[in-house]
This record gives sequence, C-alpha cells and structure tokens, in this order.
Amino acid sequence: MQDVFFERIKKINPKILDGLKEKKEFSFRINKHKADLEAVEALREEGFSPKSVDWNKYAYTLPIEDRKKITKSSTYTQNKIYIQNLSSIIAANMLDVNENDWVLDLAAAPGGKSLIFSEKARIVSAVEPDKKRFFRMKRNFKEHGAKNIQTYNKDGRFVYKATGPIFDKVFLDAPCSSEAHIDGEITWWNLKRVKRFSKLQKELIISAFECLKPGGEMIYATCTFSPEENEEVIDLLLNKYDEAKVIEVDLPIDNIQSGITKWEDKKYSDEVKKCIRILPESAYSGFFFAKIKKNP
Ligand code: SAM
Repeated sequence: MQDVFFERIKKINPKILDGLKEKKEFSFRINKHKADLEAVEALREEGFSPKSVDWNKYAYTLPIEDRKKITKSSTYTQNKIYIQNLSSIIAANMLDVNENDWVLDLAAAPGGKSLIFSEKARIVSAVEPDKKRFFRMKRNFKEHGAKNIQTYNKDGRFVYKATGPIFDKVFLDAPCSSEAHIDGEITWWNLKRVKRFSKLQKELIISAFECLKPGGEMIYATCTFSPEENEEVIDLLLNKYDEAKVIEVDLPIDNIQSGITKWEDKKYSDEVKKCIRILPESAYSGFFFAKIKKNP
C-alpha cells in the first residue's frame, strides 16, 4: 500500500512528499471573542516569540518545540488564542462572511472553523453526527465565548431535507482519508478508504449545495490529496447542477497548485482548474478547497 500511496502523490505533485516530512512550525490565531492583539504581547511576556503571518494580523506562527509549552501559558488556558493550522485559517477566511450572514458548517467538529465564522457572522449552524465529537465541540464553543453558534447532532447528508435553501454561506470541511496527516509509516491508508470517503463526500456536497440560498457561496474542503475526494466531487456537483459555478480565488501564498483535470482514466471539467491544493510547507498542512457559487 505504501508504494501505491507514494506513486499517487508523486503524480499529483512530488513536492508534497517533502512537505509531509517537514514540520518546523505550528500556528495559532487570536480568538476575537475573548482577546485582541494584546494577547500576543502577553505571550511575549510569557517568553514566546510569535511571528505574525503577513496575510492576517490575527494569525501567528511559533517553532514546533513550543507546541506543548504554549498549552500551559495563561493566554492559552484563558482561551484567548486557538491553535489552528494556517491552511484551515486561510480557507475559512476565503468564505466572505459578513455580519448579516447565516452560515452552515456541515461537518463541524471540533469546531475551529465555526469559531472563525462566528467572529463575523450573524449566526452559525454547526452540524456534527458523532456524539463524542459533538459534545466536545459544544464545550469548545462555550469555552471560546462564541454565543451565536447553534449546534446540531445530525448527519450532514440529510440536513437539506429539513432546512431547504436557507443559508447565505456554507462550509463543508468533509470527512476524508486525511492524507495530509500522514508523516511516518502508512498504516491506515488504502484505496478502498479513498473510494468510501469519495462516495460520502458526494452525498455531503449535494446536501451542502441544496442548503445554500440562490446567490449564496460555499466552500468544499478536505485535508487529503486524492483527486477522487477532491476534483471528482466538484466535477459531480458541476454536472448535476447548472447553477453551480467554481469561483476563482486569489490566495496570498505561493505553496499552492490549481486543480487537476485528468486522473487515471477520468477527465474532469476544466472548471476544476479553479480549485486549490495547498501544498504542505512549514505551518501549512496539505489542504484542498474549492469555492462555489449558486447562481440565482
Ligand atoms: N471543520 C472542523 C474544524 O475545522 O474544526 C473539522 C471537520 S473534520 C475534517 C470532519 C468532520 O466530519 C468530523 O468531525 C466527522 O465526525 C464529521 N462527519 C463524518 N461523517 C459526517 C456526516 N455524514 N455528516 C456530517 N459530518 C460528518
């Protein structure tokens, strides 16, 4: 299985393999429900030297050696900062949420992205079917002072049947084969798993799109590289709905690659070139996302 995995990754982009090995930094962002930039000053007083990220003044990186130590700092224990990967932060910020928006986070636990949306939105609905993860997420929202998040212990595949197209924005951070988190020996990866997730993701993206108001925007994301779980899912949506359009995104980072249109015996719509693969590099872990508009 190892060989199959590495062969596939090499075909997507050989640079991914170097990025998977190298983890020199981690990142966090300021939780605006509880703090502002002064939280960084407090961290400096506690002996840390956070480096700011040039595309977001609330996001910072630190050397990986500080990862454990920071969880003991008072800034962290008071929930003034949230440890979150830069790829997640940047993708969540690509959904242009404003204070009038009702946002649906369709696969939400542990809730890191819902917390970002809650800082800007009128209301966020966070859906998570796994009971344990659901209750941990609820606690996470409470601890981080987010008061505008409603939580639902439901299966995302069927949410649209209950709601219809009512949400201004939707984020689907889909359950996936998590290839971006492979850094040592490959024990749990296999092709069957990729295919199983692909099927679930196709059902989830249809639900997400059906939940979206005409004129609304959504993001589909995964932390995996396989095209079956990424471009193929977007291609299915484009074939099913004439109103679905992929929107070009302008990202302020270089470690990215546009979507691929050919994989094994499959050919996808040229539109999927607008999808983004974030290549793993320092505090950015591997990520894939596509921004989609529902034309009225
Ligand atoms: N968005 C989260 C964050 O940033 O903190 C991470 C989400 S994680 C990638 C995917 C989540 O989808 C997991 O918590 C998993 O339990 C959940 N999930 C699995 N099957 C699902 C389904 N049928 N509907 C909705 N969510 C599902």
